[in-house]
Order: sequence, then structure tokens, then C-alpha cells
Amino acid sequence: MNIDSALRPYLKARERANLYRHRKTLQSPQSTELVVDGKPYLAFSSNDYLGLANHPDVIGAFVRAAKKYGVGSGASHLVCGHSAEHHALEEELADFCGRERALLFSSGYMANLGAINALVGKGDAVFEDKLNHASLLDGGLLSGARFQRFLHNDLSSLSAKLKKSEAERKLIVVDGVFSMDGDTAPLDKLPALAEQNNSWLMVDDAHGFGCLGKNGGGSAEHFGLSQHQLPILMGTLGKAFGTSGAFITGSEALIETLIQFSRAYIYTTALPPAVAAATRVSLKLLQGEHWRRQQLQKNIQQFRSGAESLGVTLLNSATPIQPVLFGSEAKTMQVAQALEARGILVGAIRPPTVAVGSSRLRITFSAQHTDQQICQLLNVLADVV
Ligand SMILES: *Cc1c(COP(=O)(O)O)cnc(C)c1O
Repeated sequence: MNIDSALRPYLKARERANLYRHRKTLQSPQSTELVVDGKPYLAFSSNDYLGLANHPDVIGAFVRAAKKYGVGSGASHLVCGHSAEHHALEEELADFCGRERALLFSSGYMANLGAINALVGKGDAVFEDKLNHASLLDGGLLSGARFQRFLHNDLSSLSAKLKKSEAERKLIVVDGVFSMDGDTAPLDKLPALAEQNNSWLMVDDAHGFGCLGKNGGGSAEHFGLSQHQLPILMGTLGKAFGTSGAFITGSEALIETLIQFSRAYIYTTALPPAVAAATRVSLKLLQGEHWRRQQLQKNIQQFRSGAESLGVTLLNSATPIQPVLFGSEAKTMQVAQALEARGILVGAIRPPTVAVGSSRLRITFSAQHTDQQICQLLNVLADVV
């Protein structure tokens, strides 16, 4: 069959199920106010939680480094693409996280694929929370290790699976903050459970860094987890850091193992050095400007108490990710479109990103949102929900 005629029925089916995806084309920087298709919107949908994506100092560092190093890195890290900016950022990230070493990856998706696949394979087992990010699930599936999912945040479900396993290496993998639900993993208990079961713990803290912990050190700082308790810690740079890329941080042996064996690290072009330079500045802002985290928390509280008085049911989340669950795809799309018609953009999240029957709006907050903008969101929500 001709390729187009083979593909079209699947596109049609996705459309009929209210699952079709459309991209919005931005004509402005990432911010709380966006221009999309020539129209202004108030946005509650990005992961730029601290408002650093368009910060003048971050832009300045990017521009200076682009002038010094050019744009493209020109090669992979192991060939000749590893610049002084990458190297300095790795050292600063390791320091920030209280770990021996850190390693940059081109994206969070690749960091997760790359780390899991370098650490486990045939004869091993990987245990993942059902609600883990797709990149963690894909990494586990690709690894060839026995892939087991446990019930969301359910330690007895995990423990039962661990006890039954006779795998050589056992790797437990969770999101620190679950990306579509906003709740946190039970990291007060997971390190002990991992140790008792002779397994290794990996946390993807894409949504924890910058938001949690006194200095923005994320879940590890919030729960006070040392490198020994949490040996494999992953963070992304495209969220609260406001730039792009990702990192894994941990022991010398872990990082050297990734450099030697992680295919998603080895066989790809290094990030532009200017992205690393910009991230060095955003790391300083993320760490030092506590007022951003405080403002973010204030915004979250304002939204949660406002939503509560409207009778809008929220999930149990203390993070900038505040989903409103509808269940049906059609209803979720209808509310998202009604908000859009009133000038407000929020993410409409449907299967396969979330389980069938759990479609939702994913409302996210930034330190940049003002009191007045959150009131506006609440007023419009009151009309459309
Ligand atoms: C965004 C995200 C990733 C992927 O990171 P990218 O840098 O965007 O590829 C991985 N894990 C989680 C939990 C995420 O939210």
C-alpha cells in the first residue's frame, strides 16, 4: 500500500477520539504573556517555573558565548565538542547537588534513555512507577532488563516486586515530581527500601529542580538525600533553568560509566557551548534568588485557595503543576478551548500522555505570574468549568 493511504486511517482515528495534537506557533519569548497566531494570551502552560527562559542576564551570557564559541558545538563530547563552558557547568552542577560529578546530555529524554541503558540490561530488572515520564518508561523498555511497573507511589506494590526479583542488578526509577500530576515521590522512604532490597535508586527531578528545596536543589535537597541514598539523580535544564539540555549527577564511577557506555551520550552532538554558558548564569539565579521560589509558592497558594472557593477539585499537589481532572477527552478539550477563547492558554493533556479516562487541564505556574493574572484565570475558570 502507498504510505499515505496506510497512514491516513490512523490519523483519522486519532482525530475521531479527540486525541489529535496541534502545535501552537509562538511569536514571542516564553513568558506569562504569549503571542500565538498574532493574538495575545495569558499563559499557564510552560515549565519555565522561575521565569528564567527570557532573563536578560541569561540571554547576555548566551550572546557573549555565541560570539566567543560560535553556535554549533561541531562534534560529540568524546570527539571535540566538549567545551570549557560545558565542563565548567558540569562542575557547578555537581557542586550545587552535593555530588562528585555531573554529566550534561542534550535533552532529558536522552539522559534518561542513556543512563538506564548504561546501567541495566539483560539479566537485570528495572522497577518504574506507573506514572513515570515517557522517557523513563522508554529507557526501561529499551534496556532489555525485565521491565516492571508498580502502582503509583505505592511502596508495598514496589516492595512485593523487589522481593520476588532474582535479577542481578535492580534499578528503581521514579519522577521526583510527577509531571502530569504534580505530586512527589515518597523519597522519605524509597532510599531505605532500595537499600534493603539491594537495588539502586534513580530520580528524574525535571520538575523539582528550582522549585523544591531551600536553594532550588529539588527533591534531593528537600528530602536531604545524599549521593549514597540517591545515587542516580537526573535534572533537566529546559524547565526551571529556562535553557535546554539535561544532566545526571552522582559518583565518579557512575559518571565515568556513562561517559564510556551511554549511547545517548556518546553518539550525539554536544549542546551548543552558549547554552551551557547561559545555564551557568541561570543556575546562579535559580540558586540565589530565593524570592522567585517564594513568589512561585505564593502563586500556587493563591490559585489553590481560589479554586477551592470556586468548588474546582484539584489534585494533591504542592508544586507548580496543578491539574484539573475531567476524565473525558471531549470535556477537557471543550474547557481548554473555552479558556482559549477568553484569552487564556493551558495545556490539555490526553492519552497516551495520561491514562485513558484521566484527561485533564495541566495548569502550571511561574514566579512571573502576578496576583492579578491569577485572579483573571480564576474568574474565567469560574465561567467555563
Ligand atoms: C520534560 C521531562 C523530561 C524530558 O526532558 P527534555 O529535556 O525536555 O527532553 C524528562 N523527564 C521528565 C519528568 C520531564 O518532565
